[in-house]
Amino acid sequence: MIKEDRLWDHLMALAKIGASKEPKEGITRLAYTKEDDEAKALVTKYMEEAGMEVRQDEVGNLIGKRPGKSPDEPGIMIGSHLDTVFQGGKFDGALGVLSGVEVAHALQEEGHQLNRNLEVVAFTDEEGARFSTGMLGSQVVTGKLEANVLDKKDQDGILYREALQEKGFDPEKIHQARREKGSIAAYLEMHIEQAVQLERKKVSVGIVTGIAGPRWYRFTVKGESGHAGSTPMHMRKDPMSAAVKLMQAIEEIVSARENTVGTVGQIEAKPGGINIIPKEVIFTLDLRDSVDSERMAAEKAIKDKVKRLEEDFGVKIAMELLHNLDPVLCDEKIVDTAEESAKELGIESLRMVSGAAHDAMNMASITSIGMLFIPSFKGLSHRPDEWSDKKDCGNGAKVLYQTVKNLDRKMFI
Ligand SMILES: [Zn+2]
Repeated sequence: MIKEDRLWDHLMALAKIGASKEPKEGITRLAYTKEDDEAKALVTKYMEEAGMEVRQDEVGNLIGKRPGKSPDEPGIMIGSHLDTVFQGGKFDGALGVLSGVEVAHALQEEGHQLNRNLEVVAFTDEEGARFSTGMLGSQVVTGKLEANVLDKKDQDGILYREALQEKGFDPEKIHQARREKGSIAAYLEMHIEQAVQLERKKVSVGIVTGIAGPRWYRFTVKGESGHAGSTPMHMRKDPMSAAVKLMQAIEEIVSARENTVGTVGQIEAKPGGINIIPKEVIFTLDLRDSVDSERMAAEKAIKDKVKRLEEDFGVKIAMELLHNLDPVLCDEKIVDTAEESAKELGIESLRMVSGAAHDAMNMASITSIGMLFIPSFKGLSHRPDEWSDKKDCGNGAKVLYQTVKNLDRKMFI
């Protein structure tokens, strides 16, 4: 049986590691630091109390294992992360790892041996707060790490390879942490929602159907510079006016779609004088959806608008794709099993999309994935006042536990 109080006590104990003396400055627990070591030591203790065999792989992912009846079959993995952003909160990542440990603990107390192995993983450096590369641990496990990552520097000029060495890891061997496709039967991750859908609908558990992938664009709108006083409005080729119309159109195109979101996060006018019609306006767009065809349909609508605005304003608009991460769908069987599991327990659930990226996104390239969300107070996250209720944490862990049991049983039918 899941013990809500124990899970909560573990969460609060972990939250003390890296906590600033000033509560409003939150928790800073970056990868490969003293705080990270302390967090791993505490979670190792919890894993051992839950009867797990504990090890760290070649890149520093902490892994607890509870062997199943068929230890050579691909097992079930539950994961998330222990690192935080600068001045982060108590729940992001920590909840996923500790609820995995709680699942193992409950199995041990019930004397229930699963058919499959159960692994609980705390992935290293998910937030990317130290080396500006997110989801490092799960990138290594899935063989996705870019070659130049080892030479990235943190704020103090320490290279990633040096940080690894300092903690006793060999940078040339981190790839050995890789897990082959098919070697894991299912990967599950429980996380705070970091948005407000569950809170607004007063539902304890969200069942994630897919994780949105970002496409990043840069728009460069080129017009004609001129005097702000002497150029009549009808004679202008003003890239700012065109850019504003385009941004407005993007907002409308995206809002009209069900799950698509779009964000203009940066804007720059050149030369950038108060009394000069700009020559050039550059702005960015982050476009996301969990379904690729939806994302592409939004992109097409934006491209059509670009053409019309070029004609209307006599400007040239370049739309460049800077970065793309494909969206990932959760496994339908896992989604159904999680939903049934919640129902069995009498806990209300809601299907939803994850707007934020998680380790599960990487894991999807080597196994079937599923994710559970629990409500976040006002959707606040990556900040000291990030909060989730004890009851919701407990309910999420209960659904996770039941999902693991049901998946394990189904895998042998
Ligand atoms: Zn997280």
